[in-house]
Amino acid sequence: MVTEIKKITLESLLEAKEILFSSGVIGMPTETVYGLAAIGTDSEAVKKIFEIKGRPSDNPLIAHVHKDYDLEKLIYIDQEYAYKLIEKFMPGPLTLVFRSKGIVCKEATCGGDTLAIRMPSHKGAQELLKAVDMPIVAPSANLSKHTSPVTAEHVYADLNGKIPLILDGGKCTGGIESTVLDVTSSHPRILRAGLVTKEMIEEVVGYCEIAEHKEGDKVKSPGVKYKHYRPKCETLLFKENEIKEIKKAYQEEVVSGGKPYIMCSSVFAKNFEGFNLLQLGLSGEEIASNLYDKLLEGEKVATLIIGVEMPSEDGVFMGIMNRLRKSCG
Ligand code: AMP
Ligand code: MG
Repeated sequence: MVTEIKKITLESLLEAKEILFSSGVIGMPTETVYGLAAIGTDSEAVKKIFEIKGRPSDNPLIAHVHKDYDLEKLIYIDQEYAYKLIEKFMPGPLTLVFRSKGIVCKEATCGGDTLAIRMPSHKGAQELLKAVDMPIVAPSANLSKHTSPVTAEHVYADLNGKIPLILDGGKCTGGIESTVLDVTSSHPRILRAGLVTKEMIEEVVGYCEIAEHKEGDKVKSPGVKYKHYRPKCETLLFKENEIKEIKKAYQEEVVSGGKPYIMCSSVFAKNFEGFNLLQLGLSGEEIASNLYDKLLEGEKVATLIIGVEMPSEDGVFMGIMNRLRKSCG
């Protein structure tokens, strides 16, 4: 199969729609990461997503809808506070988990009785969702376990030959996956940290729990238990107070003939003049938006990426640290 990358135009949207409505799968942009898209009511198409990615069959998919879509066609809104979250954060990088009405197929929800829903704010994503006027399920458009793609070229690198079309909506501005929030109980629970932070949610609803995922637990959001986001080279992860250890690991890699890169915030990078660096930026938002891009840039040139943790886990740094631990830890 030839994989084409096309800018989003009326013509490419029409083509995308035709592929999707004939049980095909395509790459699509969102503001978080690129998605591998299929119509959520189409079992045959949804199965293809799992095959193409090599995704574990117990890891459910998020359904994406356009901003004027009536969510209650797909799910039950059991909690009053959920309306406030919808009002405040949709469209945007927040996924809400509701009780499902079973319209989105069981292959997408992995047979569960809940459905995760998101309204992406990306203009091109909205145009595609409007054009199909159906829920589109779309996990990240990478091979399972690999770093998530934030450009159409990243999608191509993983899925060339496996899908006919990638809609190119530019580099994702968000850079890490959406926050996943369970809103089926009396208070909301963060299943996956992301760009909509605990602090932002609490400003709207008062209190929000963070689901802890311990070894052996029955996991509420299966995706969190898998190896994730890993670049194709070796990785290490250090804390910011381990400068000596970072330099030692770097030198050892050089001595053994490898090419190490240190991946860290641009402030921390000042400690490493003359070293190979993957600089993530200054603010949390900037660091999130660069993280996967730098990992994917790094895996092309480095034998070893030495990741450095963030000094805090507040706000958006919670999501960043979650991805850093899984990609480099
Ligand atoms: P991805 O789209 O690859 O970034 O992964 C989607 C994430 O959402 C995974 O962590 C899934 O486990 C989670 N997810 C999807 N549907 C549900 C659901 N119904 N309940 C809980 N978590 C879900
Ligand atoms: Mg993913």
